[in-house]
This record gives sequence, C-alpha cells and structure tokens, in this order.
Amino acid sequence: MMDRAVVLGGSVAGLLAARVMADHASEVVIVERDDLAGAGVAPRRGVPQGHQVHGLLVRGLMYFEAQFPGITQELYDDGAEVADPGTDLRWYIDGVAKPPSPVGTGVACTRPFLEAHLRRRVMALPGVRALHGRAEGLTATAGRVDGVTLSGAADEAHLGGDVVVDCTGRSSRIDDWLAAIGFDAPPRRSVQVELGYASRFFARSPAERLGDGRAIMSIDENLDRARGVAAFPVEGGRWLVTIGGYHHDRPSSDPADYGARLAADPCVALHQFADRDDAIGDVITFRYPTSMRREFDRCRQLPGGFLALGDSVASFDPIYGQGMTSAALQSATLGDYLASGASPHEPATRYFRRLRPVVNSVWKLSTSADFRLPHVTGDRPPGLWATHRLNALYTKATLRDADLHGLFLRVLNLQVRPEVMARPDNLVRAVLAARRPLPAASSGR
Ligand SMILES: Cc1cc2nc3c(=O)[nH]c(=O)nc-3n(C[C@H](O)[C@H](O)[C@H](O)COP(=O)(O)OP(=O)(O)OC[C@H]3O[C@@H](n4cnc5c(N)ncnc54)[C@H](O)[C@@H]3O)c2cc1C
Repeated sequence: MMDRAVVLGGSVAGLLAARVMADHASEVVIVERDDLAGAGVAPRRGVPQGHQVHGLLVRGLMYFEAQFPGITQELYDDGAEVADPGTDLRWYIDGVAKPPSPVGTGVACTRPFLEAHLRRRVMALPGVRALHGRAEGLTATAGRVDGVTLSGAADEAHLGGDVVVDCTGRSSRIDDWLAAIGFDAPPRRSVQVELGYASRFFARSPAERLGDGRAIMSIDENLDRARGVAAFPVEGGRWLVTIGGYHHDRPSSDPADYGARLAADPCVALHQFADRDDAIGDVITFRYPTSMRREFDRCRQLPGGFLALGDSVASFDPIYGQGMTSAALQSATLGDYLASGASPHEPATRYFRRLRPVVNSVWKLSTSADFRLPHVTGDRPPGLWATHRLNALYTKATLRDADLHGLFLRVLNLQVRPEVMARPDNLVRAVLAARRPLPAASSGR
C-alpha cells in the first residue's frame, strides 16, 4: 500500500484514476484547478467541452456501474434518460432511418451531470480528497517522480506523493514537465480533423418523442461537407441538440446559422428545432482541431512514480463519443497493472505497454473513419483502404438489416472488436443486405 497517490485533474479520467488508486494508497489527493467543492451540475471552466453533447458508450456505462454499483439507477433517479443506443436512439443516414436493434443499457444526460455523479461517488471513498490548485510541474529525486509543484493552492506550494497520475486532459503540459526533470517527451501521433460543434438546449415535455424514437443521430454522408446532428433528451426536461461540421463548414454561434443547418438536415424530425420558441440559452460552440495521442510506451526512459490516463494519453475525435469510455478502459488497465504487484516507484513501462492496444483499437476506429474526409491530414492508420471498403458496405447494409445495425453499434460501443465485421458469415450477410432495396419506411419523420 502506498502512502499517497496524487492525481492531477479532477475530470472524468481523474475521477476514474482516483477510484483505482484508492485501492492501492492510504490517501489519494485530486489536484484540480477548478474548485470542485463548488462545482455543481453546470459546465465548469476547466472542462469547456462540457457544454456539448456527451454520449456515454454502453461499454463505458458498464464499467462505471462495475466501479460504482448502483450509479446507473442514481443517474436515472436524478433525471437522466434511459436510452438503448440501438432502439431509443434512432440513427439516420442521409435522412433514411436504420432499423432499430437493441444493444444494451445506455444513459442520456449532460456531461457535467454525469461528472457530478461520478465525483460524488469518488469523494465518498475513504482517503480521497480534492485540493484546489493548479499543478505547475513534477518534482523528482534520483529518476523518480516524488511530487508536484502547485500554484493557487491555499497553503501548499508542493505536494509529495509516491506516484503522480497525469489526468489534465488534452492540453496537458506533461511534455514540458517531463523535460524539466530530465526525461524526453513521448512521441505523438496526430490527425487534423478540424471539427466544430454548436449546441443549444430546448425545453422538453416528459412524454415528448423525436420521430419514432427518444433521441436522434443524423449523419450526412456527403463527404465533402460532412455534417451531423445529435438530439438527446437530458436531465432537467431538456433536449440538447448538437450540430457538427468540419473545416470550412464548422457551425458558428449565430442562432440563424444554427437554425438554418437544422432546417436543412436530411432528417425531417430535426426541422422543428430550427424555429422552436422554447430554446434555452445561447448557441455554444467548440472547436476541436486535432486528435492526438502520446505514446508513452515508446519513451526511451520514463521516470518512476509517474502514470497518465485519459485525454492526456489520447484525445479522439469527439464525434464517435469514445473519450470517457476510453478513460474507463484505461483505468481498468491501470487497476490490473497495480493489482499485478507493480511497484509504483518503478517506471511504469509495462503499464503504458498494456495501454497501447487499448488505445490503439479506439484510435483506429475513429481515425480510419476521419480519413474518409478529404480535408483530414496527419498520421494515417494502417489498412485504411480495406477499412473504408468495409465501412461503406456496412453503411448500406445496416440501413437494410437490423441485426447488422446491432452488430455495427456494438462495435461503435466498444462491446465487440471491429474484426467481427469482417468475419465471413457477417460479410456475406452484409453483401446480400446491401443489394436489397431500401425498406419503404422512414425518411426521418
Ligand atoms: C467537444 C467534445 C465533445 C466530446 N464528446 C464526447 C462524447 O460524446 N463522449 C465521450 O465519451 N467523450 C466525449 N468527449 C471527450 C471527453 O470530454 C473526455 O474524453 C473526457 O472528459 C475525459 O477527459 P479527461 O478527464 O482526460 O480530461 P478533461 O475532461 O479535459 O479534464 C481535464 C481536467 O484537468 C484539469 N486541469 C488541467 N490542467 C490542470 C492543472 N495544471 N492543474 C490542475 N488541474 C488541471 C481541468 O480543469 C479538468 O478538470 C468530448 C470532447 C470534446 C472536446
């Protein structure tokens, strides 16, 4: 048992890291630049993406439930919506609905609401406390991290610990911090996606539905101007409607632009949001330029006492909703690593090696899909041509075959490995399905 673990960043990854570290340290201190004591269920400054829609994948919710038994029910009890991402959430491609297919339990709520529930559970663990302050760097003795320097913390400028876990997100300064104690920054991979989001809330009555579902994901397959809309029911009797666009077609915060895009969406059921008079608050935008990962496993040398988890390790194009679930999978890897008897004082090379396939599988899914868009540049994942052919086949087939749509969704929800889509029986089925005419049904009403 360690005396003290220090977790930098108190967002989703930091909370999950703290949950794991609480099993291995007498004390866990979460250092967070926002004041978590005062944080409610509203977006906070340190997590600006909190205004935008955040889907939690089925695999992520399964992990949350395993770590915090009863949390799904708590979320529902406090106002989150139950949503099976295969039936309650209706998927539209160019305005054509995919057939419903159940894939598991999901939850629809805002990101700050989810984080607040995780935080409540983590802060109730014995030995866990939050420290309001900004981490400014690592301190080390004889090649081992032994603490962190702080600014803005009430009475501490340095906090010692047996291990420091970086969970400060995609803008982490860990490269500089490692350099300052004599270690190389990890190699990076990046993909320039140039995604823009614009989100707004609307009032929702309890029985209100969208088309024949409870939520909508609409994807415009025109790759030269790919757009998407997610309309989710969230706590507090609201819809959260987020529009996505890329590169020169990013949405602005102008309500007229926001409304015009919704009016032009191929899914007719979304048109109502173009001119509803029950909008709540402004249109809030977010620009996401680059997906990025740090390959700590490829560092020539790492200091002992140092770990990292979450977006500081890998930040994915948010459109695929993978970030929080990836953080969950990474924290499971961290738990296994520590349970294997690893000393926190030794360089965590084995941990980062174990993390590689976990991050790889998520990274490949999202970056392969991004490289279909002509403007996207950066580190291309291997096997792109085959992946694109397979995805094009499944796009057609899943509009016609509910079971294949279910399979595809289980891949997206990280419940099964993507390789299952290329299994001969599924391939044959997909080829046959893709040849069938589209069902006469829905055009998104
Ligand atoms: C627009 C957008 C939409 C997204 N949509 C989804 C989605 O639908 N589904 C999904 O699963 N994921 C989504 N994500 C990703 C998701 O937000 C992250 O993966 C998730 O929050 C985990 O991130 P994290 O905890 O590693 O980092 P962050 O959430 O970025 O948190 C970092 C934390 O560290 C703190 N911090 C930073 N620097 C310091 C410092 N020096 N000292 C102390 N504290 C510090 C910050 O205040 C913050 O609390 C989206 C991301 C974006 C940008």
